[in-house]
Amino acid sequence: MGHGLQLHVRIYTDQGIFGHGEGTDAVQGGAPLVRMFRRFLVGQDPLNVEALWERIRTAGIFAGAQGGQYTAALSAVETALWDLAGKAMGIPVYQLLGGKCRDRVRLYCDSQTEDPKDPEAPKKIAGIVDMGFTAAKIDIDEAMDPNRWDRVNWTASNAEVDRMVAKVKFMRESLPARTDLAVDMHGRYDMTTGKRVAKELEPFKLLFLEEPVPPENVDAMRDIRESTSTPICCGENLFLRHGFRTVLERRAADIIMPDLQKVGGLLEGRKIADMAHVYYTPFAPHCVVSPIGTMASCHVCAAVPNFLVLEWHWISRLELWKNFVREGDIIEKGFVTLPDRPGIGVEMNEEAARKVQVKDTPWFEPGL
Ligand code: MG
Repeated sequence: MGHGLQLHVRIYTDQGIFGHGEGTDAVQGGAPLVRMFRRFLVGQDPLNVEALWERIRTAGIFAGAQGGQYTAALSAVETALWDLAGKAMGIPVYQLLGGKCRDRVRLYCDSQTEDPKDPEAPKKIAGIVDMGFTAAKIDIDEAMDPNRWDRVNWTASNAEVDRMVAKVKFMRESLPARTDLAVDMHGRYDMTTGKRVAKELEPFKLLFLEEPVPPENVDAMRDIRESTSTPICCGENLFLRHGFRTVLERRAADIIMPDLQKVGGLLEGRKIADMAHVYYTPFAPHCVVSPIGTMASCHVCAAVPNFLVLEWHWISRLELWKNFVREGDIIEKGFVTLPDRPGIGVEMNEEAARKVQVKDTPWFEPGL
């Protein structure tokens, strides 16, 4: 349990090494799925990552393998296989994904400054800048906004739109001019609202506006994109290459943001980035996981040419972040430098991780 739920998976070998991977969000049913995946893995050569991945995926086409819990669990397993392969060969995962385009990966800080009227907000924002981040993100959707006319319908009222714009203005004016600002609407609103907000935010020169409408209707996302100069980003709830094919073909987004802990894994992320590169579209992954999954994502971000920026979402859990892996804090001045250690290059501090284990969930089961 960090930012939401995470699923940690280890794959053990008869050579005394193991690989560690992480899945997220849709992982409530992850443990039984991973147990079911065992029959595809036991006795196999773990270095044949693509073949193992494809067998597990195709075995589940009647069981939800198109997305959600199935691909989140598959992502964790796939990442563990890459960690294992790197350790077995004595090389970092980025080397297995094509080598490095960059030595360090730029992060943006999901600021969690929810209320500009909060007297602590200026201090929190200054803290983000002090930590060295060169980009930040805020959320402007608000389920409890008293100006909402309706608890179910998400067409924003004028007062709601004004609140959103005021929040962006406050954040923009509080950050140094060179710090990029991204804004998330969490796919909650309708077309009318999405178009209005994207238009009204144009003067703020956002890094991106994320999911003004839900991601399933690619044409709706494209209509908003075509109506504004604000760059539109989407994809944290799309799955596999197939989820991104239509987004790219229809030019529905300026920037894509697959979550490598649920989209299908590291190589799937690399393939999606490559598809996007054909459309000259930057790759800015969603990321809410522990330092293990974050570092795994960094290996992909280092390996693809069109990487833009990677999310970081643990500012309100700094102590846990710093203690979750034995290597300590992997972020330095808003960047992660890729380690040259074999595999992903970070190992869980089990004592810290056990403290946040969700009640009634299993720990690793190496003997089964
Ligand atoms: Mg988001």
